[in-house]
Amino acid sequence: PAKGEAILEVRGVTKRFGGLVANNDISFDVHAGEILAVIGPNGAGKSTLFNQLSCVDRPTSGEIRFRGRRIDGRTAREMAGAGLSRTFQHVKLLPTMSVLENAAIGAHLRGGKGVAAAALRLDRREEARLLDEARRQLGRVGLGQHLHAEAGSLALGQQRILEIARALCADPCLLLLDEPAAGLRHLEKQALAELLKRLRAEGMAIVLVEHDMDFVMGLVDRVFVMEFGEQIAEGVPETIQTNPAVLEAYLGG
Ligand code: ADP
Ligand code: MG
Repeated sequence: PAKGEAILEVRGVTKRFGGLVANNDISFDVHAGEILAVIGPNGAGKSTLFNQLSCVDRPTSGEIRFRGRRIDGRTAREMAGAGLSRTFQHVKLLPTMSVLENAAIGAHLRGGKGVAAAALRLDRREEARLLDEARRQLGRVGLGQHLHAEAGSLALGQQRILEIARALCADPCLLLLDEPAAGLRHLEKQALAELLKRLRAEGMAIVLVEHDMDFVMGLVDRVFVMEFGEQIAEGVPETIQTNPAVLEAYLGG
């Protein structure tokens, strides 16, 4: 995608669980080469929104477009094959498999092929291609020295970066990251921020849910703030940090 191209367009998305309105009329855009943070207190509706963006769940009403096409009703796997990858709040690696094997799982998703389908019809040449792609992405994120280590033996910060490498193997233009900095040490957060800045410079669009405000404010281009299912503010970090409604939401006013 060209820099600045609208990658994700969210229009009037509402999600109800019975009588509870978890997302009410949410609208925003994300462009190529941009990082957007979604923030808000617990229960604000961030995970619900993320599940709809990644097609884990579908909206009650409203529209979501990815590169101009409606995605509601598609599956998460279809979207991963089409260039929309996500990571989860809790690390989902296979801890006793190698770093290389864990990353290669992501390459199966490229072009819409499912893991199971790929595993059933995996000839040698195809397997070599997947491993090559995994090696390339692990080098890109700085894990090239750890290809044969067990994934579970890595520090948490490296495990998070491995998950991103796995997502990159599917060749995404949009990355959705659920609390990527949670539990990381200061230096690990710095390494993660450097990686995300590099991906942004290469034209990737990134949306992240994150609680660590220092991490968010030093990294992202725009902040989208939610409370009780509503969008209460949107803007560059400098204006969000002094926005009265945002301060009120966070200080429990
Ligand atoms: P956040 O991620 O911002 O903490 P969530 O999106 O997880 O918030 O939750 C928003 C609201 O929706 C909460 O009140 C939560 O209890 C409710 N909720 C989330 N998922 C479901 C579900 N599958 N069924 C019923 N209620 C849900
Ligand atoms: Mg959540």
